[in-house]
Parts: sequence; C-alpha cells; structure tokens
Amino acid sequence: MYPSAEISELMEALSGQDAFRSVLDALAEGVYLVDRNRTIRFWNRACEEISGYRAADVVGHRCFENILRHVDDTGAELCRARCPLAKTMRDGQERECGVWLHHRDGRRLPVQIHARPIRGENSAVIGAIEIFSDRSAITSAQERLAQLEAQALTDPLTQLPNRRYLDMALPAALADAHRYQEPLGVVFIDIDGFKAVNDAHGHDTGDELLRVVAGTLSGNLRAGDTICRYGGEEFVVILPHANEEHLSRTCQRLLALVRVSSLDRPHQRSLSVTVSIGATIATAGDTPASVLFRADRNLYTSKRQGRDRITFS
Ligand code: GH3
Ligand code: MG
Ligand code: MG
Repeated sequence: MYPSAEISELMEALSGQDAFRSVLDALAEGVYLVDRNRTIRFWNRACEEISGYRAADVVGHRCFENILRHVDDTGAELCRARCPLAKTMRDGQERECGVWLHHRDGRRLPVQIHARPIRGENSAVIGAIEIFSDRSAITSAQERLAQLEAQALTDPLTQLPNRRYLDMALPAALADAHRYQEPLGVVFIDIDGFKAVNDAHGHDTGDELLRVVAGTLSGNLRAGDTICRYGGEEFVVILPHANEEHLSRTCQRLLALVRVSSLDRPHQRSLSVTVSIGATIATAGDTPASVLFRADRNLYTSKRQGRDRITFS
C-alpha cells in the first residue's frame, strides 16, 4: 500500500506534463483521477464541459464532497456507501454503470461511467480513474425509440392498439391461457352498413363516428382486456379469464351501448350505428389463426342473419 502522497505526487507530475494534459484534454470523455482518499488529482477539459465544474473548483477536493454527488435512477446517493470508484479501489475490478451526476447549474445529468483502478508498484491500487460520458443523447434516443414503437402499435384515428399490436398480444394471451388452463375470449366486431354512412355523410363524419364507436367499445371492458382496431371498421377484443357467461354478458353490453351511442352534430340529426359480433372461447388446440377464424366466421353468421346481433360458438 502506498501513501496517498505518492500517488498525488505522481499525478501532479503527470498532469504537469503538457503531452499528458493535451492528450486527455482532447478526449470527448470526461477523465478524472483520484487518489486512495478519493481526492481529485486531475480533471480534464471534457469533465469541465460535461459537469460545468472547472478543474480549479474540484482538484484537491474529495469527490464525494458536495461536488458530483452521483445518484442512481431512484435518486439514491452513491457517493458514500456505493461509490463506484471506492468499490473499484477496494476490489481492484473495473466497473461500468449509468449514473446521474450533479451539474454545476443544479440539473441532474445522465452519464455512463467507467471506473478503473490505477496500480503502483507491486500492483497495489494507488488510486482510480473515472471516465464518463454524457448519456443524455442516448437517453433521448431510447425515449424516441419507445415513442416510435408506441406509434407503430397505435392506430392514429382511434388511438387504440392496431393490428400489429394484436399480432403480438394474441399469441401471448393464448399461450398464457393454455399454460394456466384459463378460458380466453376472442371477439370480432364489425360496424354495420358503414359504407352507407360514408356515402351519405362523407368520410370525415364517418371517421368521427368510428371514433365514437371505438370509445364506447374500449370504455366498457375490464382492465385486463385488450381491444384493437383490426381494420377499417373492425375491432378485435381479447378477454383473458372470460368464461361463456362473462363473454356473453360483455358482448351484449357492447352491442347495446354502441346502439345508443351517437355522433351529435350541431343543427343536424345525430348519427348512430349498430355492430355485429362474433365471439368464441379459445380451446386447448387453438392457435391465434384458428381462434380468429372462428370469431370471424361467427361474425359473418351475425351479418347474414340480419346484423346488430351476436353469434357465439
Ligand atoms: P356490413 O359490415 O354491415 O356488411 O357493411 P359495411 O358497409 O360496414 O361493410 P363493408 O366491408 O362493405 O365496408 C366497410 C366500409 O367501412 C368501407 C369504408 O367505406 C368504411 N371504412 C373503413 N375504414 C374506414 C375509415 O377509417 N374511415 C371511414 N370514414 N370509413 C371507413
Ligand atoms: Mg361493416
Ligand atoms: Mg368490415
């Protein structure tokens, strides 16, 4: 073990060398060195740019003294008990993690840090180096990706999940139903005579009425149920843990509530539509395709028998 005076002399000697400084100052990553007491001995230019603290503010101070105050994503302080540099000096291991540091202007900045031990003679750890980079760009790219994913799975007109979402959700729901031997209800819903609505009142009015129907359907399901806009004026609902009785009651409620929903227009007659429904419960041998096929076939029966009704099998 070397007294910290040795490492500080070493670092001061190194940091006094122009070549050493200019290489470290040219890096985009913040690089700083601490001795065994966690006193900051070197602070490069990127550290200044990323954190807002000048070398003169921090060199000679201990890194946990009210400067960077690393926290994790719950806001819990790392500097005392869970300091990555202290851990690295204790166990001699490199480590990498995402933390939030305190910027001089008070905001919390996401950074990716890489801590490495500095070894002196006999490989004894005499200090540590922390390399950190601004992670805000990565964070916002991740947020952007999440937004894009949400957009890709959402129908813009009704804000309901779209068919692509159903293609992922139905196999998962069916796998759960098979695994836990629970009934899974699948329902196909299609608006009756919708082409005539468009023809008589225009496509924009048709869109508004479609939104009204979507709102009635989605607002009258249980929390665990999933409704998606499957196509033009067609919806599919997945109802986990739905036995025949529950499925039948739900379908009757949806049918009745759509019938009394309306698009109210100033100075004009309000518009209403009915829906036809095909419902089924997944059985042990069902695949997503077979269960959808049966619900769709039942829907077709409802249409053929006069619309505004439910067929269940
Ligand atoms: P039925 O289902 O009762 O047999 O008759 P329908 O007229 O509803 O059925 P069809 O499949 O013949 O036509 C569906 C119509 O729905 C076609 C199109 O005019 C309308 N439609 C589909 N998607 C949209 C949409 O996003 N907006 C509007 N306004 N209309 C749509
Ligand atoms: Mg239709
Ligand atoms: Mg249709």
